[in-house]
Amino acid sequence: MANLSLTKKKSIAEEAYVELEKLYVKQEMTLDYSNAWELLVGGILGAQTTDEQVNRVTAVLFKKYPNIEDFANSSFENMMQEINSIGLYRNKAKALIGSAQKILKDFDGKIPTEREALMSLPGVGPKVASLVRGDYYGIPAIVVDTHCGRISQLLGLSNSQNPTIIEKDLMKILPEETWINWGHYLVLHGRKYCKARCRNCLACPLNDCCHYANKKSIQKKITEAKEQQLEDGCF
Ligand code: SF4
Repeated sequence: MANLSLTKKKSIAEEAYVELEKLYVKQEMTLDYSNAWELLVGGILGAQTTDEQVNRVTAVLFKKYPNIEDFANSSFENMMQEINSIGLYRNKAKALIGSAQKILKDFDGKIPTEREALMSLPGVGPKVASLVRGDYYGIPAIVVDTHCGRISQLLGLSNSQNPTIIEKDLMKILPEETWINWGHYLVLHGRKYCKARCRNCLACPLNDCCHYANKKSIQKKITEAKEQQLEDGCF
């Protein structure tokens, strides 16, 4: 586990962000939504599911259930049927109906902006709360999903496995204006270079600053591979 000084972490984060921005600045977020409720629904449905799967389901769901009231009045059985092509659909159906009912009852039909209020909704944890706050309301927040958590640790920016603690660690290191993008960029980076089971450190543009890649054993492999002009590395 990395135990770097705050100054070192800030320098890694700064360098990594510059590279991430070059790589992903033009890439859009992949969940489809047109208002805060739809983003919240996408976030709830997104647990352990790809954005593509969520978008396939919501394309139909939002036509049949165009507003929060429709979700609140849906039967559990109907909602389960609508979303049963994605994982954890029972819990997610319950969360969607419960969240819609709570928003109508406690928040006057409006999606709250405060983190605690969002997290009081069924199925909404820190990740979905940050997603809605950052992407819809533009309130600086870091979405720590599995990619963001894993890569932030590899870079040496946090030692924790807990998304809430990782988010707090990152907030001390990253400038506020980078928080929203940081989470999105690391999702894209996790798909492209830094997969959970196959890190392509040789090709990764962050390998100069990444704490993991700068460990002696890994650095040796990178150097050797570069010397042999290998284009693909996976270790
Ligand atoms: S250098 Fe390797 S460990 Fe570091 S971010 Fe890139 S792929 Fe991940």
